[in-house]
Amino acid sequence: MYDIIHTDVLCIGAGLAGERVAIEAAEAGFRAICLSIVPARRSHSAAAQGGMQAALGNCAMGEGDCPDVHFADTVKGSDWGCDQEVARLFCETAPIVMRELAYWGVPWNRIVAGKDDYFQGGKKFSKTEKRENAGLITARNFGGTAKWRTCYTSDGTGHAVLFTMDNRAMHKGVEVHDRTEAIALIHDGERCKGAIVRCLRTGKLLVYLAKATVIAAGGFGRIYRESTNAVICEGGGQSIALDTGLVPLGNMEAVQFHPTGVVPSNILVTEGCRGDGGTLLDRNMERFMPAYEPAKAELASRDVVSRRMTEHMRKGLGVPSDYGDHLWLDIRHLGEHHISTKLREVQEICNNFLGVDPITQPIPVRPTQHYSMGGIRTDKDGAAYGLSGLFAAGEAACWDMHGFNRLGGNSLSETVVAGKIVGGKVVEFLRGGNADYAFSMAEAEGFLATQQARIDQLVKGGGRENIYELRRMMQDTMMEGVGIFRNEEGLSNAVKKLQEIHARTANIGLRSDGIGANDELRLALNLPGMVRLALCVAYGALERRESRGSHAREDYPARNDRDWLVRTLATWKSDSALPTLDYEAASRVFEIPPGDRGYGGGKIISADDKETQHA
Ligand SMILES: Cc1cc2nc3c(=O)[nH]c(=O)nc-3n(C[C@H](O)[C@H](O)[C@H](O)COP(=O)(O)OP(=O)(O)OC[C@H]3O[C@@H](n4cnc5c(N)ncnc54)[C@H](O)[C@@H]3O)c2cc1C
Repeated sequence: MYDIIHTDVLCIGAGLAGERVAIEAAEAGFRAICLSIVPARRSHSAAAQGGMQAALGNCAMGEGDCPDVHFADTVKGSDWGCDQEVARLFCETAPIVMRELAYWGVPWNRIVAGKDDYFQGGKKFSKTEKRENAGLITARNFGGTAKWRTCYTSDGTGHAVLFTMDNRAMHKGVEVHDRTEAIALIHDGERCKGAIVRCLRTGKLLVYLAKATVIAAGGFGRIYRESTNAVICEGGGQSIALDTGLVPLGNMEAVQFHPTGVVPSNILVTEGCRGDGGTLLDRNMERFMPAYEPAKAELASRDVVSRRMTEHMRKGLGVPSDYGDHLWLDIRHLGEHHISTKLREVQEICNNFLGVDPITQPIPVRPTQHYSMGGIRTDKDGAAYGLSGLFAAGEAACWDMHGFNRLGGNSLSETVVAGKIVGGKVVEFLRGGNADYAFSMAEAEGFLATQQARIDQLVKGGGRENIYELRRMMQDTMMEGVGIFRNEEGLSNAVKKLQEIHARTANIGLRSDGIGANDELRLALNLPGMVRLALCVAYGALERRESRGSHAREDYPARNDRDWLVRTLATWKSDSALPTLDYEAASRVFEIPPGDRGYGGGKIISADDKETQHA
């Protein structure tokens, strides 16, 4: 026996994106349910520290900012890989959601009138905030931006915004079913009809039937060994979409490494550290970024800073440690008051996990996997390709305002902006006559039976492979072959290795025997899908023979707008050993034609065939 739950909207995920979509649907009078592996407030959005970008133009250093400037920063940041219509929609809507969040209760840091010191590249400057702007939402500096536009609540932004969002969701009657995990989508080949879900408390399978299904299940960082992502960021949302064989994943090879994961625990310290004036130092305690990036130094975009740090360590200038080489992040000059107020979480992380006091000591850091630009490919309404009634939003999606590198602060904003826009489109979809569709129980039972058979096979099948060993092999392979710098040989080897690991996942055996609250079984159900995602990343990276944003090919160092101004679409046909790759134009409309980013250097092969060196 199994339970069947009917709803209008099923959001797989109760992070910022999922809850924001659900609020929009609930406000329009629809029943909205969010599923979550953990209680909603423990979703990964809560870990975001630094802030959210929106062109408010309130503070002195943001004066003159507007969505046009934000748009230009976002497109350059993406290395022209983004869908410019989506980036435009995003930049125009971000200021609206920021004010909406303030109205809902987010305690944004505000402008204090008068003269004030700030640091840029270790040097002190002063600025004056106007009296008439006192009390307006303020902003801090972040990488890759022409103006200060990252709105924040000290360095606990995600926490404050998620708690506020969850309050609002409760107030609007959104139901959150936590400790539940979607393990397959229900569909008839054309229309998505909900999901097969596993209750993580009892181990029982549940059938959720929905008129519209939204995947907002976050990123897939855990396919890498060194990641700032929470342990639940295993890409469950992308996996169940890929498993339909119909829904493509976009630009899976676009994986961001953040410059400042702490060593050795890989916890993130926010970009706000560099934005507020922190510097990067090498083993000689020398600041090296200005030599590589004269214009932006530590505040170039993340892909660029991560590459420069890696280059510098390759020259032997990293600090040797038991956990490999690292560099230093120095925020000592910001002073005790600044650190213990605006960077308080950073201080606690350093104290609690490293035994380092950032007021008096530098922080050991190195680039660490951080963000998944790739995900479920959608159109600008958030509707997934390949199945009607299926939508995606947030980090799980490739809506595609990030292209090959997302700017710091643009992701939290995306969750809320996309949540609002996609939520509106879901409501239109339901009101537009799409709510009625033929539903056959036999269809749902087919999917249910397949999932039950997988569980029975794992529990009783006598397989020999150890999931933890296979997971570690996958994670090591990704770190070694599909990291910051990539090449043909490393990627080919990674693809081969991942194919072997994938074949071995068919023979997984459990060491435990319970089917209830069993985490080994949970991982065993997810691991084959994680390896398929890893293959989409590695194979997509192998086939993309150019360098763009975070995808740096040592053997193809130029950005190639002639041949590769495209988005990779990966689908997985059943029983395949590899994804099928197709390509579409990166953007239907180029409001800003491809050009120089103004940082990062390197060559560009332009559409008219000329190879040029840019600054
Ligand atoms: C350490 C860290 C700091 C960051 N700081 C910033 C920042 O300062 N500014 C910024 O813009 N961005 C930041 N980011 C990125 C940003 O926080 C995330 O991209 C964003 O919060 C993702 O939100 P989301 O709603 O898409 O997913 P999440 O918040 O990850 O939520 C995913 C939800 O899906 C659920 N779920 C997952 N799989 C399943 C499944 N199979 N079935 C059911 N439920 C499922 C989870 O339980 C969860 O509720 C940071 C990221 C990290 C890792």
